[in-house]
Amino acid sequence: IKMNGMLEYYHPNESLSNIGGLDNLKDWIEERGNAYSQEAREYGLNLPKGVLLLGVPGCGKSLTAKAISRSWNFPLLRFDLGKVFGGLVGESERNIREALDVAKAISPCILWIDEIEKGLSGVQSSGSSDGGTTSRVFGTFLTWMQEKKEPVFVIATANNIGLMPPELLRKGRFDEIFFVDLPTVEERMNIYEIHINNKGRNPREFDLEQIATKSFGFSGAEIEEVLNESLFRAFNQGRDVTTEDILYSIGQICPLSKTMSETIT
Ligand code: ATP
Repeated sequence: IKMNGMLEYYHPNESLSNIGGLDNLKDWIEERGNAYSQEAREYGLNLPKGVLLLGVPGCGKSLTAKAISRSWNFPLLRFDLGKVFGGLVGESERNIREALDVAKAISPCILWIDEIEKGLSGVQSSGSSDGGTTSRVFGTFLTWMQEKKEPVFVIATANNIGLMPPELLRKGRFDEIFFVDLPTVEERMNIYEIHINNKGRNPREFDLEQIATKSFGFSGAEIEEVLNESLFRAFNQGRDVTTEDILYSIGQICPLSKTMSETIT
């Protein structure tokens, strides 16, 4: 499906075991996934509505969306809210309604709204700027969230909490809101382990504790970058990658969190 690029169909390969750290989130996903069985219906469990993931870039929000889809075996629809808005009168409202109808039609599915705050950032100010279109689109979405009876699980992600309409954060909209922060040292060890494994190497041959400690302030995406850079270096020197290569790359890469804190101070 490609409705003007609004909805895109994904076939992710990533599973929950590809996510390093974020144990509470992973446990929560596994638990909620059980709510779709016949047994759960008879028991009286409600269908899960969705989850909101807030937090810094590169720490696994998109990865989580993909892993939920794989783990529950539900197709993943990525919804680009920015593409909903059109110039004609009523076009945006019609677009969002159509997109949400498609999600219902193919349910059970996961509806992934990446950077939801960007699509909705005009909500507070929209009264004057766009004749209230953003507000109406947002209202359509909220009502749909509240009323949907079909198994469409919404996973929304946002980097900039400041731009989030407060209505979205209010209780009852999503089942849960998780803050996805920079990984702790244990989580960094876990992330190195996963990515070293993905590259067909044995994590036990590396000093995970040392490289994780030295990667203070690195996101999951930056850890992946460290490893990729280390592989390039070792390959060009005609040997296999070692802890030393990783330590070297850590020294070469400046994590975004550090750049940001230096800009502020
Ligand atoms: P953005 O807001 O920039 O989209 P994000 O939080 O959605 O960031 P991802 O796209 O999930 O981040 O992360 C980018 C890549 O970094 C992932 O595909 C994965 O390879 C790696 N990565 C990030 N976080 C983790 C993690 N917790 N465990 C393992 N890998 C991770």
